[in-house]
Amino acid sequence: MKENYDIIIVGARCAGATLAIELGKAKYEVLLLDQSHFPSDTNSTHAFFNNTVYMLRELGVMPLLEETTAPPIRRVLFQFNDIKIEGDLPIVHNEENSYCIPRTYFDKVMHDCATSFDSVTSLEGFRVTRLLRNQRRVIGVEGITQTGESRRFTAKMVIGADGRRSTVRSLLGLLPKRKVSTDYSFFYSYLTGLEQSDPPKFEIHQINGSTLVIFPTSDQKYVTFIACPSASTNWLKAFRENPSQAYIQYLKTKFEVIEFEKRLKNARMVDKVKGLFSFDNYWFPLMGKGWALVGDSAIFKDPGVAQGMHDAIFGARTLAAVLKEYDWENEENKMIMAYEERVQEKILGLFELALNMTKYKPSTPEQRKVQQLISQYPQARDKFFGVYNYANGLDELNKEIVGILASTKENE
Ligand SMILES: Cc1cc2nc3c(=O)[nH]c(=O)nc-3n(C[C@H](O)[C@H](O)[C@H](O)COP(=O)(O)OP(=O)(O)OC[C@H]3O[C@@H](n4cnc5c(N)ncnc54)[C@H](O)[C@@H]3O)c2cc1C
Repeated sequence: MKENYDIIIVGARCAGATLAIELGKAKYEVLLLDQSHFPSDTNSTHAFFNNTVYMLRELGVMPLLEETTAPPIRRVLFQFNDIKIEGDLPIVHNEENSYCIPRTYFDKVMHDCATSFDSVTSLEGFRVTRLLRNQRRVIGVEGITQTGESRRFTAKMVIGADGRRSTVRSLLGLLPKRKVSTDYSFFYSYLTGLEQSDPPKFEIHQINGSTLVIFPTSDQKYVTFIACPSASTNWLKAFRENPSQAYIQYLKTKFEVIEFEKRLKNARMVDKVKGLFSFDNYWFPLMGKGWALVGDSAIFKDPGVAQGMHDAIFGARTLAAVLKEYDWENEENKMIMAYEERVQEKILGLFELALNMTKYKPSTPEQRKVQQLISQYPQARDKFFGVYNYANGLDELNKEIVGILASTKENE
């Protein structure tokens, strides 16, 4: 195995595998490293919308992903206490369907695709522990193989695609540009036998400060995901002591007003409870001398918006585009700016929305009024859904609401 490459990518899931696929297509010499062995699972509820399907089709992995038994989803139901907003997600790039495909399978398909390129070398079970530098420039990595052997590799660029607890980011000693801690803890598990009315749908219920999310996935299972305010210390204690019992109890008691217990009558929990007791939303610098970050290592936001996989894949494709476009030696500053600007242009709006969602606030009468309007007016509903799959921005939703308010005033 050779020791010098064009690019070393640390982390080989959504962000890292996508980048390797894009660079492999362009015949760059890539070393793709991951401490895991694929297939392997990761902490994620793994739903992605049709905007992600479009990119996965372009990457060439969608036919294999469509082979799972995960149902194609068009319908979404948002419920804010007694207000229901239900409809189909806006079609984007001719893609209608969204999916929730287990990460064990999803990440393996992505990794296999990345390593199918002759110029991509993969090393699994390799943990990066140190960055090699020449003065301030990053020139490689050092790490440990599964058998405990220390190895070094060099490259013109080292990319941290190594997730929320990124080693590359911490070795770079970067400070976040934005950092907001959440007011919620998240827990999820898998249920079979959960009742859901036709058609299959993604459901998001926000009831008296707690959130329940339901994603139909493969093998007739449902990912059920709850956001519990971290101030509910008794609940968090219960989750620490007996996660499965606390989880079922939470589902039954906190979502009583939507009679969720009835839907659980024939349900069985078929996996352990996973999740996060706490996390920060953050945005780090994306690129510097000989390094770049992509995916969760760079930007992480409340999983409630379910665009983490999209943003990791989008970020990796954007990074691949700028790496191909610019002369790394003579246009480094331009390249850094282009990467930052393109990612910001796409992702910042939803990031701001996630920062808003991640803070616990009782809903106001004004919010209720807006939610009611969205539920009554299909054009507002489409723009509301469109914020979640990047079909439109928040500004377009706001414009629609202002227009409806103005026309209802005129008719009074
Ligand atoms: C509870 C939860 C629920 C979520 N639900 C959703 C959802 O429904 N939909 C959605 O779109 N997003 C969701 N997300 C977010 C989504 O999972 C992430 O945004 C996405 O996985 C980011 O991909 P990534 O490639 O950047 O990082 P990761 O998927 O975290 O991959 C990082 C890889 O880097 C490797 N690595 C780490 N350190 C090293 C090292 N030192 N050396 C070598 N390898 C290393 C790891 O082994 C791992 O394979 C959720 C997140 C959480 C926490």
